[in-house]
Amino acid sequence: MENCIFCKIIAGEIPSPRLYEDDKMIVIRDIEPKAKLHYLCIPKTHFALLSEMDEARAEVVKYCFEKIPQLASELGLQDGYRIIINQGENGGQTVHHLHIHLLGGEVLGGF
Ligand code: AMP
Ligand code: ZN
Repeated sequence: MENCIFCKIIAGEIPSPRLYEDDKMIVIRDIEPKAKLHYLCIPKTHFALLSEMDEARAEVVKYCFEKIPQLASELGLQDGYRIIINQGENGGQTVHHLHIHLLGGEVLGGF
């Protein structure tokens, strides 16, 4: 997708070390970490909102949610983590390519 920073990272046009990659998703470090450990799990399919879900997209999102717990230990998240998916303007979404924030490495404050 044109001008999508995450599509550019996935395509290798913007360098960003991948902590994990397969044919459906990548995991990178968030450039502005909001916790001691802050990763982004980014599906390789471009779409912005859960409301744009179709069967193929749902399959990829399901895959990410299956993969994240399998990767937790190697990402240093074995003691638990928080998942956030920001949606739209009020949700604070700044990159309009669906992504799953993984926060951990410390006891996170409540909200
Ligand atoms: P959101 O606000 O939910 O759309 O999250 C977008 C996230 O992407 C923010 O936490 C940014 O810090 C992060 N981000 C933006 N550009 C990059 C980049 N080039 N590499 C890693 N993370 C990025
Ligand atoms: Zn994209």
